[in-house]
Amino acid sequence: MSSPLPVGKFYGRGGHRPKLGVCGDDSPGVVPFPCKSILSDPDTVRKVFTKQDDLLNYTRGKKLTPFVFESKDDGRRFFMASDPRVFWHYDTQRQPQHRHTYEVIREYANCKLYFDLEFDALLNPDKDGVRMVRIFVGVVMYFLKKIFGVECGESDVLNLDSTTSGKFSRHLIFLLPDAVFRDNYNVGNFVKFVCEKITNLAYLKIVDSKGRENLFCDTAVYSKNRHFRLYKSTKYNKTASLELAADNKFNRAESELEVFLCSLITYTEGCEGFRVLEFGNAPGNPKLGAVSRNPVHREPSPFPQIDRFVANLVLPGHIYRSSYFPTRDTIVYDIVGNRFCGNVGRQHKSNNIKYVFDLSRAVYCQKCHDPDCSDYKSEDLAIPAELIVDRGDGAGVTGERGVASDQSRSLQRFPSFGLTDSEILGAYNSLDYEKNDFYYHHRQ
Ligand SMILES: [Zn+2]
Repeated sequence: MSSPLPVGKFYGRGGHRPKLGVCGDDSPGVVPFPCKSILSDPDTVRKVFTKQDDLLNYTRGKKLTPFVFESKDDGRRFFMASDPRVFWHYDTQRQPQHRHTYEVIREYANCKLYFDLEFDALLNPDKDGVRMVRIFVGVVMYFLKKIFGVECGESDVLNLDSTTSGKFSRHLIFLLPDAVFRDNYNVGNFVKFVCEKITNLAYLKIVDSKGRENLFCDTAVYSKNRHFRLYKSTKYNKTASLELAADNKFNRAESELEVFLCSLITYTEGCEGFRVLEFGNAPGNPKLGAVSRNPVHREPSPFPQIDRFVANLVLPGHIYRSSYFPTRDTIVYDIVGNRFCGNVGRQHKSNNIKYVFDLSRAVYCQKCHDPDCSDYKSEDLAIPAELIVDRGDGAGVTGERGVASDQSRSLQRFPSFGLTDSEILGAYNSLDYEKNDFYYHHRQ
């Protein structure tokens, strides 16, 4: 797949003035013309509705995108089903200040990964929004790689800006090279997971209008049939339109139309055959409950000899996953299939246990996911001496792979994303292993 973008000439050479309907702008000086090449296609009808339900019923099973637009007179919302190229053709003929247009991110539609980032600039005078976005994009790319194995770069991220003097506001749309999300519920689960992981990353936190501290990522935009503002559009009674950000690095769109198509969350033409990413327990993942009981993701720690030791230790259970925390030189092993907990002296019925290996002190202990055992920690036991090898700095453990193990360890590190040690300290501390009741999986 070279490019997910349809490329071509969508604009004809003129012709009769079309009926613009409710969406049109009758302003003098605007001479609309139809785009013949696509208007001849039966899929390129556009139809206006006053009720969203009618719109969604109409677009079901059709290659049409559901749009919303606000009347320039009173802000009332109307709905339109259209091929997005046709929509763009007419929308661009409206006066910029009258373009109050949105995409309906319809429930269960495959979609891109998208974010709404914002904060009140007056309440957060010390915040550099551009730097925050750059750091946040790095964090998201880290988790895309870690969880789905999906690699992307800043040039895959469409960065739209609607900042005013009072409010920093961005939309980010990730055009992953070979993957889309199942739907925006799955996107929302992933985003909330990432936000939970970095909730202590102080630099990305802002004060909201109610005086609360929050991340600057709005996690409310993944709801059912969400309206998401379009490129070049303003909110009713506002003047700031969504434009390409000065620091946008997305480089796959060669025209305004292509930017528009790329910015549409549910427009995935050209993504046929892509992986469909799922995350967490979403209404669209009916089988997830069954899947989540199986170990679906295992990652060896940088210390294979300790992994083997733990594997033997927990028989007949096994390691569900391991997480290495470089700042504490600690590995946490989540165990399934063996729930024996030293706190209760028996197997738990439903909650799993974990082992924590502190390499700096060469000891390990058992801890537990049962809420009643949340404060429990077994006595420290010595990590067997044969697993502990001088690693050159006079202390601790090294992998069998010698130098290679140091390299693999550095790859396991939560990257700094350009933050200082003190700025990232909280994130390290919050980067605990995944909650036991929150599994993820992906399928090809
Ligand atoms: Zn327990």
